[in-house]
Amino acid sequence: QKVILEVKNLKRYFNVGKNQTLKAVDNVSFTVYKGETFGLVGESGCGKSTLGRTIIRLYGATGGEVLFDGVNVHGKLSGAQSHELSRRMQMIFQDPYASLNPRMKVMDIVAEGIDAHGLAKSAQERAQMVIDLLEVVGLQEEHANRFPHEFSGGQRQRIGIARALAVNPDFIIADEPISALDVSIQAQVINLLKKLQEQRQLTYLFIAHDLSMVKHISDRVGVMYLGSMAELASSQELFDNPLHPYTQALLSAIPLPDPDLEQSRSRVVLEGSIPSPINLPECCHFCSRCPKATELCKKKAPEMVEAQPGHWVACHLIPSPCK
Ligand code: SF4
Ligand code: MG
Repeated sequence: QKVILEVKNLKRYFNVGKNQTLKAVDNVSFTVYKGETFGLVGESGCGKSTLGRTIIRLYGATGGEVLFDGVNVHGKLSGAQSHELSRRMQMIFQDPYASLNPRMKVMDIVAEGIDAHGLAKSAQERAQMVIDLLEVVGLQEEHANRFPHEFSGGQRQRIGIARALAVNPDFIIADEPISALDVSIQAQVINLLKKLQEQRQLTYLFIAHDLSMVKHISDRVGVMYLGSMAELASSQELFDNPLHPYTQALLSAIPLPDPDLEQSRSRVVLEGSIPSPINLPECCHFCSRCPKATELCKKKAPEMVEAQPGHWVACHLIPSPCK
């Protein structure tokens, strides 16, 4: 399998006051393969959006590296290289309404990237490209002359998808693209994203706050907690054999369809909420809520180890088979 994205020990810190550092992304490493969907899951505030925005260069990196097709995206790039990266990597946002300029017609919103990258040779070709894109995402030609407020939430997300597709990207970060939509609309948008992936050989980084949302769309899943990656495995393996106490807690919060199973299973209930990531001491970031925490967990951050082939976990209780 060909690697398209490599994130290595990535850090993104923010200064939030005198001597106060928010470690939104702290030492995160993972790899995304070409053509796959990598699901990134965690509670709100865990740093998953910041991670996405750092990968796509909306934020600089505090430390570590992001390699896209071998190119260090935060390194010294020529103008042409930078331009090409911003074409190839696109983002779809949670709230399409906030990300669509209310004063612009759909025609001009979708054509933003076409204009920025000089992809159309004439006004006529530009208009035709937009109309084709609207069709691809399930909208119609006449929608091009309307404004964002004239559309439903699901339609607005389709406009956001058309805008991302306009520059012919190969990698799309979808930051909670369905979280703000009605349940009945969610499946439609997921199906559209899947269809586009097949037709255009797209790679997705699919961000969600709920494991059940990424289960069916993701090939592999990474679970984030408070700026760190807790566990990473194929979607099937993660659901069948969760190793990290946090993943176990997340999974046990998903209701089972069978009431008998639901009755008989043991639940891991997390006490408290996600603590502040400001001035976090050196520790396992999950230690304040972990039912299995020991003294070591409060003093030392566990390293990611490959517990089984392709199944990575950061927990002192899981020894590395190689050590
Ligand atoms: Fe829990 Fe300790 Fe493992 Fe962290 S390292 S998940 S606190 S057992
Ligand atoms: Mg977010």
